[in-house]
Amino acid sequence: RNNAEKFEFQAEVSRLMDIIVNSLYSNKDIFLRELISNASDALDKIRFLSLTDKEVLGEGDATKLDIQIKLDKEKKILSLRDRGIGMTKEDLIKNLGTIAKSGTSAFVEKVQSSGDLNLIGQFGVGFYSVYLVADYVEVVSKHNDDKQYVWESKADGAFAISEDTWNEPLGRGTEIRLHLRDEAQEYLEESKLKELVKRYSEFINFPIYIWASKEVDVEVPADEDDSGDEEETTDKTSSEEGEDEDAEKGEDEDTEKKPKTKTVKETTYEWEVLNDVKAIWLRSPKDVTEKEYIKFYHSLAKGFGDEKPMAWSHFTAEGDVEFKAVLYVPPKAPHNLYDSYYKSKSNLKLYVRRVFISDEFDELLPKFLSFLKGIVDSDTLPLNVSREMLQAHGSLKTIKKKLIRKALDMIRKIAEEDPDESSGKDEKEVEKSSDNDEKKGQYTKFWNEYGKSIKLGIIEDASNRNRLAKLLRFESTKSDGKLTSLDKYISRMKSGQKEILYITGTSQEQLEKSPFLERLKKKNYEVIFFTDPVDEYLMQYLMDYEGKQFQNVSKEGLKFGKDKTNKELKESFKELTKWWKGVLTTSKVDDVKISNRLDNTPCVVVTSKFGWSANMERIMQAQTL
Ligand code: ADP
Ligand code: MG
Repeated sequence: RNNAEKFEFQAEVSRLMDIIVNSLYSNKDIFLRELISNASDALDKIRFLSLTDKEVLGEGDATKLDIQIKLDKEKKILSLRDRGIGMTKEDLIKNLGTIAKSGTSAFVEKVQSSGDLNLIGQFGVGFYSVYLVADYVEVVSKHNDDKQYVWESKADGAFAISEDTWNEPLGRGTEIRLHLRDEAQEYLEESKLKELVKRYSEFINFPIYIWASKEVDVEVPADEDDSGDEEETTDKTSSEEGEDEDAEKGEDEDTEKKPKTKTVKETTYEWEVLNDVKAIWLRSPKDVTEKEYIKFYHSLAKGFGDEKPMAWSHFTAEGDVEFKAVLYVPPKAPHNLYDSYYKSKSNLKLYVRRVFISDEFDELLPKFLSFLKGIVDSDTLPLNVSREMLQAHGSLKTIKKKLIRKALDMIRKIAEEDPDESSGKDEKEVEKSSDNDEKKGQYTKFWNEYGKSIKLGIIEDASNRNRLAKLLRFESTKSDGKLTSLDKYISRMKSGQKEILYITGTSQEQLEKSPFLERLKKKNYEVIFFTDPVDEYLMQYLMDYEGKQFQNVSKEGLKFGKDKTNKELKESFKELTKWWKGVLTTSKVDDVKISNRLDNTPCVVVTSKFGWSANMERIMQAQTL
């Protein structure tokens, strides 16, 4: 093409494409899910803009927000068209090739080790999955702010962009044409496409049409030569089904009246809609099956597979602020959950009266719950205002508050329904149902994936601190290698024990040997092990639980009740303590005391009540280095 401009793919993208082209990954179907998801995103964007500016939709067909699929068996092209926002020339260059997404290299690594391409959408590079089935791809796109352009590439390290002077004008939107590889011809079969669209796009909020063939019986005059047997192809542009029925009825009558006709098969084409656009969250939770919730989760998570979400919660909030929501705990934490914790975005999709607004609304959930996925649809929020105005809307605070409560309830239920968790509890409380097996160990799984989030929540959210502390799990001198909770700790406290005892350090193994535990173990006190660096910070915020104070056993203030010998000992060692104080001087220690916390070890260094524990010193040192 004369007017084509050539570009090279960014190196990481090029590598990814090579991997995709040469992949032996068997589930090639996923490309369709990715294309539909992109089309749906593009439609969401134009619909959002149209809320404040109706003009952007244009006129006539351009106002129809839908997705259309066509199959061209002769040319071996599968095309998918949307009337979404479209891409300008610059968008095409940036989005499809030159700017690598942050997830690209992470995904390349993952695919190289596992060969699994299914999660491609989650890493923001779903588009390139088209090269699983096509060896040549054209993207025709028209954005309101630019002319129509064609992007094309054979995945050979380069792509070309040309101003489109030969295709039909799209009006607005994008048409992706896949020139299918020889071994991917199955994607030209209507039945295959219908099946895939149904599987992958049940929850897409825009109608998806396929240009479907239909065999109809047509009566033709039974004349001398048999030329009527040839199949005719008529394009039918109307998609109203009523017309067909009328036509058929008419035919029946005709047959009786005119015996000198015969029936021939004719292939006609028409747009057939493949999905019914229903919003699961608007339905009553009673009417939604478990299977539907799981499927909906997969559509939100941009990744399919057998993995079930750990839990979900579907509810309606009423009162001043009305909204419906579905929240999910994903089966696994995202790969970079804590690497970029403060930069992480909420994973909730915000809808206002069924119109998608944004999935980057940080005002909806606090950071520590950013691992949740789900949707929120509010009738209270205004629809035709800018994103900025929406972000500042007072109702968001109420929505957030309610979402946090519901999320914490949902997490608490994982624990309550986990038979492992209730061991030691009243037998009757353990639900004896068939799905007990499935729920067994779920909370440990939750804790391993998201425990740190709960701890960060305790640090960050004072108003929910107690609720979060209930969700806390840890090991202790009595937990027997399993996780235990503060409630269980309290239930095991010795009579007369007032404080919850804990010790911090780098590993449990190291802590088990700590001289601080000698006497406590002997006296049968339970001590919690905190071995994560975040635990030190956690314990600066978690002062008490259910009216019980926390005591770090390596700090001053540990009491064993009244010890009669204490006074005598103090007296008889008076001279020695005095001597020690002189030797160590006040710049090294604050005080030297007789202690009853030890058994075999002659002496220990104890931290003052408000000082940094030895472990905290270590953490701070590591950070400043
Ligand atoms: P993601 O969808 O996660 O952003 P993709 O690789 O699927 O990643 O798509 C890359 C980008 O290309 C999208 O973010 C979008 O900007 C653009 N894009 C892809 N398909 C379309 C489309 N049908 N209409 C408009 N823009 C699109
Ligand atoms: Mg995508």
